[in-house]
Amino acid sequence: MNIIFVAPPAAGKGTQSSLLVEKYGLIHISTGDLLRAEVASGSNLGNSLKDKMASGELISDDIVLELLKNRLMQDDIKKGFILDGYPRNINQANELNKVLDELNMKIDHVLYLDMDKTLAMHRALGRQSCPKCGKTYNKYEEVFKPKVDGKCDDCQEDLISRTDDNEETFNTRFDTYLDNTQPLLDFYKELNLLSVIDNSGTPDETFKRIEEVII
Ligand code: AMP
Repeated sequence: MNIIFVAPPAAGKGTQSSLLVEKYGLIHISTGDLLRAEVASGSNLGNSLKDKMASGELISDDIVLELLKNRLMQDDIKKGFILDGYPRNINQANELNKVLDELNMKIDHVLYLDMDKTLAMHRALGRQSCPKCGKTYNKYEEVFKPKVDGKCDDCQEDLISRTDDNEETFNTRFDTYLDNTQPLLDFYKELNLLSVIDNSGTPDETFKRIEEVII
């Protein structure tokens, strides 16, 4: 089973993906993670992406496609995947279809996690993670709060926020998302792959709604 998540930044795609990975053994592919890994590697390509990533601008379609294609060609992908953060525009959706055809794969479901900007912004500004073990938290959400403010529950390390999770960058990311998303939703609706998931409740409620669609 291959799934695409379409959702505003901070909608909880990461959380829902983890739940799907755990229960159904799918592989989570986040193009944001692939790009951040490239930046962290210190490669020339990574260095050239740094500023754009930090300001919330989209990276060029060619670069993202190349990184994604490399990931899709790895063996573990046969278990099925969840694509998170891609496609973000129609060109990327068309390119993805071509690559999947070449690799003899297809998309089974496109899940749109529907939520409004105020709620998404609130979640983004509360996001924190542990630089040591990678565990993620949200200081504004009861279920995701660390036990001690600003400290990782497991390793007591100081928690950090992503540089692009500030109000100004979030506005850019959300507005870019809105501009590009509607055509994508139309594209996948036309292909009969789209399901709209109400994402205003708790993560468990959203996950139940997702399962109703994919099972
Ligand atoms: P995300 O983790 O999905 O919020 O992505 C973080 C940043 O990575 C975005 O603000 C973009 O700069 C870049 N990015 C991730 N996915 C894509 C994509 N499909 N196309 C272009 N840029 C992307």
